[in-house]
Amino acid sequence: MKLIFATNNKNKIIEVQALLNNKFNIQSLEEINCFEDIIENRDTIEGNAILKAKYIYDNYKVDCFADDTGLEVESLNGQPGVMSKRFSGADSTSNKNMDKLLKLMEFSENRKGKFKTVIALIYKGELTTFTGLCAGEIITEKKGEKGFGYDPIFKPTGRKYTFAEMDLEIKNKIGHRAKAVNKLIEFLSKKISIK
Ligand code: IMP
Repeated sequence: MKLIFATNNKNKIIEVQALLNNKFNIQSLEEINCFEDIIENRDTIEGNAILKAKYIYDNYKVDCFADDTGLEVESLNGQPGVMSKRFSGADSTSNKNMDKLLKLMEFSENRKGKFKTVIALIYKGELTTFTGLCAGEIITEKKGEKGFGYDPIFKPTGRKYTFAEMDLEIKNKIGHRAKAVNKLIEFLSKKISIK
Protein backbone atom coordinates (compact mmCIF):
# COMPACT_ATOMS: atom_id res chain seq x y z
CA MET A 1 0.00 0.00 0.00
CA LYS A 2 1.35 3.42 -1.00
CA LEU A 3 0.90 6.27 1.45
CA ILE A 4 2.26 9.80 1.33
CA PHE A 5 3.70 11.09 4.58
CA ALA A 6 3.16 14.85 4.44
CA THR A 7 6.66 15.83 5.53
CA ASN A 8 10.12 16.41 4.14
CA ASN A 9 11.73 16.05 7.56
CA LYS A 10 14.27 13.27 6.99
CA ASN A 11 14.49 12.46 10.71
CA LYS A 12 10.78 11.80 10.87
CA ILE A 13 10.78 9.69 7.72
CA ILE A 14 13.61 7.59 9.19
CA GLU A 15 11.77 7.22 12.51
CA VAL A 16 8.45 6.30 10.95
CA GLN A 17 9.95 4.07 8.28
CA ALA A 18 11.71 2.10 11.02
CA LEU A 19 8.32 1.43 12.59
CA LEU A 20 6.53 0.28 9.47
CA ASN A 21 6.79 -3.17 8.01
CA ASN A 22 6.91 -3.68 4.26
CA LYS A 23 3.13 -3.76 3.94
CA PHE A 24 3.35 0.01 3.62
CA ASN A 25 5.31 2.00 1.10
CA ILE A 26 5.82 5.44 2.61
CA GLN A 27 6.75 8.32 0.34
CA SER A 28 7.68 11.88 1.24
CA LEU A 29 6.24 15.06 -0.29
CA GLU A 30 9.34 15.34 -2.47
CA GLU A 31 8.29 12.15 -4.22
CA ILE A 32 4.98 13.65 -5.33
CA ASN A 33 6.76 16.87 -6.32
CA CYS A 34 5.12 18.86 -3.58
CA PHE A 35 7.49 21.60 -2.49
CA GLU A 36 4.94 24.04 -1.10
CA ASP A 37 5.37 25.35 2.39
CA ILE A 38 2.11 24.37 4.09
CA ILE A 39 1.41 27.09 6.65
CA GLU A 40 0.61 25.49 10.00
CA ASN A 41 -1.63 28.18 11.45
CA ARG A 42 -4.11 26.27 13.60
CA ASP A 43 -4.08 26.73 17.35
CA THR A 44 -3.97 23.05 18.26
CA ILE A 45 -1.60 20.18 17.42
CA GLU A 46 -4.54 18.17 16.09
CA GLY A 47 -5.71 21.12 13.95
CA ASN A 48 -2.31 21.43 12.27
CA ALA A 49 -2.08 17.69 11.54
CA ILE A 50 -5.53 17.75 9.94
CA LEU A 51 -4.72 20.92 7.97
CA LYS A 52 -1.60 19.32 6.41
CA ALA A 53 -3.31 16.01 5.54
CA LYS A 54 -6.29 17.84 4.00
CA TYR A 55 -4.03 20.08 1.97
CA ILE A 56 -2.28 17.07 0.43
CA TYR A 57 -5.49 15.17 -0.15
CA ASP A 58 -7.29 18.15 -1.70
CA ASN A 59 -4.40 19.00 -4.02
CA TYR A 60 -2.97 15.60 -4.92
CA LYS A 61 -5.87 13.17 -4.28
CA VAL A 62 -3.63 10.55 -2.70
CA ASP A 63 -3.95 8.48 0.49
CA CYS A 64 -1.83 10.39 2.97
CA PHE A 65 -1.09 11.18 6.56
CA ALA A 66 0.42 14.12 8.38
CA ASP A 67 1.68 14.51 11.90
CA ASP A 68 2.12 17.36 14.27
CA THR A 69 3.96 17.20 17.56
CA GLY A 70 4.41 19.47 20.50
CA LEU A 71 6.03 19.42 23.88
CA GLU A 72 3.55 20.39 26.61
CA VAL A 73 5.10 21.56 29.86
CA GLU A 74 2.91 21.42 32.95
CA SER A 75 4.32 24.45 34.79
CA LEU A 76 3.98 26.55 31.62
CA ASN A 77 0.31 25.69 31.09
CA GLY A 78 1.07 23.44 28.14
CA GLN A 79 3.62 25.68 26.40
CA PRO A 80 5.39 25.44 23.98
CA GLY A 81 2.70 23.02 22.68
CA VAL A 82 1.52 23.91 19.21
CA MET A 83 4.28 26.56 19.11
CA SER A 84 7.09 24.03 19.71
CA LYS A 85 8.74 24.58 16.35
CA ARG A 86 8.66 28.39 16.44
CA PHE A 87 8.99 28.83 20.18
CA SER A 88 11.86 31.31 19.95
CA GLY A 89 10.45 33.32 17.05
CA ALA A 90 10.79 33.40 13.28
CA ASP A 91 14.45 32.32 13.29
CA SER A 92 13.95 29.50 15.78
CA THR A 93 16.43 26.66 15.97
CA SER A 94 16.28 23.65 18.25
CA ASN A 95 19.04 25.12 20.38
CA LYS A 96 17.33 28.49 20.73
CA ASN A 97 14.02 26.78 21.57
CA MET A 98 15.65 24.66 24.26
CA ASP A 99 17.50 27.67 25.69
CA LYS A 100 14.25 29.63 25.91
CA LEU A 101 12.46 26.73 27.59
CA LEU A 102 15.28 26.16 30.10
CA LYS A 103 15.33 29.86 30.93
CA LEU A 104 11.56 29.97 31.46
CA MET A 105 11.83 26.93 33.72
CA GLU A 106 14.87 28.18 35.62
CA PHE A 107 12.99 28.30 38.91
CA SER A 108 10.39 25.60 38.21
CA GLU A 109 10.34 22.72 40.62
CA ASN A 110 7.66 20.97 38.61
CA ARG A 111 9.64 19.70 35.61
CA LYS A 112 6.85 17.50 34.19
CA GLY A 113 6.10 17.59 30.50
CA LYS A 114 4.84 15.40 27.73
CA PHE A 115 5.30 15.05 24.02
CA LYS A 116 2.08 14.76 22.07
CA THR A 117 1.87 13.56 18.50
CA VAL A 118 -1.30 13.63 16.46
CA ILE A 119 -1.42 11.83 13.13
CA ALA A 120 -4.21 12.71 10.71
CA LEU A 121 -4.81 10.05 8.08
CA ILE A 122 -6.92 10.47 4.98
CA TYR A 123 -7.54 7.01 3.60
CA LYS A 124 -10.01 6.58 0.75
CA GLY A 125 -11.22 10.11 1.45
CA GLU A 126 -11.98 9.45 5.12
CA LEU A 127 -10.26 11.33 7.95
CA THR A 128 -9.12 9.55 11.14
CA THR A 129 -6.78 10.85 13.86
CA PHE A 130 -4.41 8.97 16.19
CA THR A 131 -2.73 10.39 19.30
CA GLY A 132 0.49 9.27 20.99
CA LEU A 133 1.76 10.63 24.30
CA CYS A 134 5.10 10.29 26.06
CA ALA A 135 5.40 11.64 29.60
CA GLY A 136 8.66 12.71 31.15
CA GLU A 137 10.59 15.57 32.65
CA ILE A 138 12.51 18.55 31.36
CA ILE A 139 16.02 18.31 32.75
CA THR A 140 18.08 21.41 33.54
CA GLU A 141 20.78 21.06 30.87
CA LYS A 142 21.15 19.51 27.41
CA LYS A 143 22.42 15.94 27.29
CA GLY A 144 23.13 13.76 24.25
CA GLU A 145 23.68 14.24 20.55
CA LYS A 146 21.07 11.95 18.95
CA GLY A 147 17.56 12.73 17.79
CA PHE A 148 16.34 16.27 17.13
CA GLY A 149 14.26 19.12 18.52
CA TYR A 150 13.90 19.05 22.31
CA ASP A 151 15.38 15.53 22.65
CA PRO A 152 18.49 16.66 24.64
CA ILE A 153 16.39 18.10 27.49
CA PHE A 154 13.60 15.48 27.64
CA LYS A 155 13.94 12.44 29.87
CA PRO A 156 11.03 9.99 29.57
CA THR A 157 9.49 8.80 32.85
CA GLY A 158 11.32 5.83 34.34
CA ARG A 159 14.40 6.24 32.11
CA LYS A 160 17.91 7.29 33.05
CA TYR A 161 18.68 8.97 29.75
CA THR A 162 17.29 11.73 27.56
CA PHE A 163 15.88 10.95 24.13
CA ALA A 164 19.10 12.40 22.68
CA GLU A 165 21.19 9.85 24.58
CA MET A 166 19.08 6.89 23.41
CA ASP A 167 19.31 4.77 20.32
CA LEU A 168 16.43 5.31 17.91
CA GLU A 169 15.37 1.72 18.55
CA ILE A 170 14.56 2.59 22.17
CA LYS A 171 12.94 5.95 21.35
CA ASN A 172 10.77 4.08 18.90
CA LYS A 173 9.57 1.71 21.59
CA ILE A 174 8.48 4.36 24.09
CA GLY A 175 8.12 7.58 22.09
CA HIS A 176 5.05 9.67 21.31
CA ARG A 177 5.39 9.39 17.52
CA ALA A 178 5.86 5.61 17.75
CA LYS A 179 2.69 5.29 19.80
CA ALA A 180 0.67 7.30 17.30
CA VAL A 181 2.23 5.42 14.35
CA ASN A 182 1.44 2.06 15.97
CA LYS A 183 -2.21 3.09 16.23
CA LEU A 184 -2.10 4.11 12.56
CA ILE A 185 -0.60 0.72 11.61
CA GLU A 186 -3.22 -1.18 13.60
CA PHE A 187 -5.98 0.79 11.87
CA LEU A 188 -4.54 0.27 8.38
CA SER A 189 -3.84 -3.42 9.00
CA LYS A 190 -7.54 -3.92 9.77
CA LYS A 191 -8.51 -2.05 6.60
CA ILE A 192 -6.20 -4.23 4.53
CA SER A 193 -7.47 -7.48 6.02
CA ILE A 194 -11.07 -6.39 5.48
CA LYS A 195 -10.43 -6.06 1.74
P1 IMP B 1 6.58 18.70 14.24
O1 IMP B 1 5.15 19.04 14.29
O2 IMP B 1 6.79 17.23 14.28
O3 IMP B 1 7.33 19.39 13.16
O4 IMP B 1 7.20 19.17 15.59
C1 IMP B 1 7.21 20.51 16.02
C2 IMP B 1 8.45 20.73 16.84
O5 IMP B 1 8.41 19.89 18.00
C3 IMP B 1 9.75 20.37 16.13
O6 IMP B 1 10.28 21.46 15.47
C4 IMP B 1 10.65 19.92 17.24
O7 IMP B 1 11.28 21.03 17.81
C5 IMP B 1 9.69 19.36 18.24
N1 IMP B 1 9.63 17.89 18.13
C6 IMP B 1 8.80 17.14 17.38
N2 IMP B 1 9.04 15.83 17.55
C7 IMP B 1 10.06 15.76 18.42
C8 IMP B 1 10.77 14.67 18.98
O8 IMP B 1 10.53 13.48 18.74
N3 IMP B 1 11.75 15.00 19.85
C9 IMP B 1 12.05 16.28 20.18
N4 IMP B 1 11.44 17.32 19.67
C10 IMP B 1 10.43 17.07 18.80
